Amino acid sequence: MVRWRKFSTSLHSCAVKRTECAVEPSQGSEQEVPSQTLLNWGLERRSLALIAQRTLKNVVRATGVGLHSGDTVYLTLRPAPENHGIQFKRVDLDPPALIQATADSVSQTTLSTCLSSPEGATVSTVEHLLSALSGLGIDNVLIECNAPELPIMDGSASPFVFLIQSAGVREQTAPREYLRITHIIEVEDSGKTARLEPFNGFRISFSIDFDHPVVDQGACKTVVDVDEASFVREVSRARTFGFMRDLDYLKANNLARGGSMANAIVVGEDRILNDDGLRQNDEFVKHKVLDALGDLYLAGRPIIGHYSGSRSGHALNNRLLRQLLSDPSHYEVVSFENAADCPIPVLPIVENDA
Ligand SMILES: [Zn+2]
Repeated sequence: MVRWRKFSTSLHSCAVKRTECAVEPSQGSEQEVPSQTLLNWGLERRSLALIAQRTLKNVVRATGVGLHSGDTVYLTLRPAPENHGIQFKRVDLDPPALIQATADSVSQTTLSTCLSSPEGATVSTVEHLLSALSGLGIDNVLIECNAPELPIMDGSASPFVFLIQSAGVREQTAPREYLRITHIIEVEDSGKTARLEPFNGFRISFSIDFDHPVVDQGACKTVVDVDEASFVREVSRARTFGFMRDLDYLKANNLARGGSMANAIVVGEDRILNDDGLRQNDEFVKHKVLDALGDLYLAGRPIIGHYSGSRSGHALNNRLLRQLLSDPSHYEVVSFENAADCPIPVLPIVENDA
């Protein structure tokens, strides 16, 4: 079944304090797919279409606050050529440093995922942007930032979804390569587990053990069959969360200086301290799904399989990926000449006005 993506014009994510975004026409030399070609695709042509890689159509910029520094961070997303993958560029360094978004680049996982280049340049808090790129099916992008951390925005992936949709999406010609799980892989640490197993689709199951009066115990488990529509609808708006007592500790130790109720759910002793409460009843576990999606995108290709996490976090997710990628018998790389054969729905591009 073909579903057509409609770009959301809901600008809830633009209400984020200290966050701005801007789009500029692409200066890239890549050939642009004529919009009428895509819009005129009928169901029959669509079902026979190759699933190709995608990048952004235009350069897009955002400004936000760094979670740890509290400083203003400038972010630019640029279209990138086929097989470029996701790369970060620290433009504040001389010379600027490229940092690959790969499982091997993960150097630290305390509080957020931090990536490092072989030369030691770092960029942290990458998981929410990676989650948005994964959810929206962007294969190739160059992400420039002027600080060692990305802006936290509102603590969810929603502002990044808005940015990417504002930039527009361009289909390229090279086939998208998926990583299909062929064997069960599981890692465990002190009762926390993360697992990948064969599945004809992309499914994320997650459970948290969050025994606190503000958490609905019936909303600590979730299963999401991930595609672009379900990601935007069910996952992208779920914010990161923390306890008020931890926030006080972190700030006393010069960490999370940018942390506030503008970019996290803050849990008090007996209530959610944010004025508007939760965005969805299961926002806590849905944010864990959001994080897992970002972490898994460091595999370098979209996954066909079933991920299950129980109290897992960035560290365990990275161990899982490293174990997966360490043995090519765990997976196979596949592409689809015919979109109808792909078990994960890929929505046709709908042109916006950007
Ligand atoms: Zn997160």
